[in-house]
Amino acid sequence: MSRVAYVNGRYLPLNDAKISVEDRGYQFADGVYEVCEVRGGCLVDERRHMARLDRSLGELNIARPISPAALAVVLRETIRRNRVRDGIVYVQVTRGVARRDFPFPSVETRPSLVVTARSNDIERLQQIATEGITVITVPDIRWKRVDIKSVALLPNVLAKQSARERGAREAWLVDAHGRVTEGASSNAWIVSREGRLITHPVGHEILSGITRSVVIDAIKAQGLSFEERSFAVDEAYAAREAFITSASQTVLPVISINGRPIGNGSPGWIATGLRRDYHRYAEISE
Ligand code: PMP
Repeated sequence: MSRVAYVNGRYLPLNDAKISVEDRGYQFADGVYEVCEVRGGCLVDERRHMARLDRSLGELNIARPISPAALAVVLRETIRRNRVRDGIVYVQVTRGVARRDFPFPSVETRPSLVVTARSNDIERLQQIATEGITVITVPDIRWKRVDIKSVALLPNVLAKQSARERGAREAWLVDAHGRVTEGASSNAWIVSREGRLITHPVGHEILSGITRSVVIDAIKAQGLSFEERSFAVDEAYAAREAFITSASQTVLPVISINGRPIGNGSPGWIATGLRRDYHRYAEISE
């Protein structure tokens, strides 16, 4: 079945879906995005993802392209037209099309909106989760406002490529103090020797992951011990467990970092349990 994209008011076959060469997303990475999980044809955590989209737009002074209610319809229609039951829906908003010039274009410039959706092989993803994933570490060379979910992802692309070349699924980004900020496309977690769940605090240095926030809800509801603080790579090597969180993968156990096994080198029970229970804590909307 051919895929369909929504582009500025129209649903088009992917091959016919086009954006101007003068779109500021293309010229300057002047835009933001969101990725929302689709499960059983329903949106997962739509409210929080749309709130974060609004925040990213606000931080960059990009206008909303359409109303929240209209966007909710477009998300569902794009999912339906692509017949996605399990997968993701992707939303991108840029500052729009204007003659190439660095400062913001005139206020009449309309933001561009693109929505796509695609299926995921959830059986394969579950198999990956059961086996556990490996990660490498690379220096975090990103800009200082990665809390804004901007489409400027070149450092993340390079980090992921390094991971791929070293046979790993994810790269953890390490700041100038030797501390893990987050993954190239996920938040990073460890479970300490004492059984405390640890992840970097929100701020300008990480993306405030929606999956991260749902996992925090799950941790609190289950009475697990939790600490929001950064951790060094050495602390991660010595951890009992490690895992990553992201909307498209929920929770994935990490079994090695830079080739060093974590815990006993197989998925830990806390990460496995959080993955199993994840959707009990998420908001599912038709
Ligand atoms: N950090 C980065 C850099 C990401 O790209 C992502 C995935 N979008 C995340 C964290 C996880 O965020 P979420 O749980 O909202 O998908």
